[in-house]
Amino acid sequence: MNPAVTITRVAARVGAAEIAELAASADVVLDCCDNFETRHAVNRACVMHGKPLVSGAAVRFDGQVAVFDLSDPKSPCYHCLFGEGDELEETRCATMGVFAPLVGIVGATQAAEALKLIAGAGVTLAGRLLVLDALAMHWRELAVPRDPACPVCRERG
Ligand SMILES: [Zn+2]
Repeated sequence: MNPAVTITRVAARVGAAEIAELAASADVVLDCCDNFETRHAVNRACVMHGKPLVSGAAVRFDGQVAVFDLSDPKSPCYHCLFGEGDELEETRCATMGVFAPLVGIVGATQAAEALKLIAGAGVTLAGRLLVLDALAMHWRELAVPRDPACPVCRERG
């Protein structure tokens, strides 16, 4: 449908060094993974290269979407919001299940934010976290401040 679009296939599993390399070559990074280790590795790569990160998560009937515009040196990062080691027991979709339409809602919201970031259109979710309760179909919005004690942000100065 879009002959100007080039798709580059990468291995299904990559390490932190490859994640950093991929982030360096991207305009926008979307994190759609299902575990905190990968989320933090993707965040570190985006912080390192100053790339906007569109983060999405879905488990059971709960969804989240946030944008960390790391091209802005004052932006919070994923670690500012969800520090490593202080997360609750990891809830994987494989064991906890996910309401199937929820991944579509979260994914479409991430795609909208990515396109807005690329086009420079509108107001992105930068600095904000959207939380969806799909049982009530209720969205809440929370401000995400930069954590002055964040060790990942400290490395970028
Ligand atoms: Zn941070």
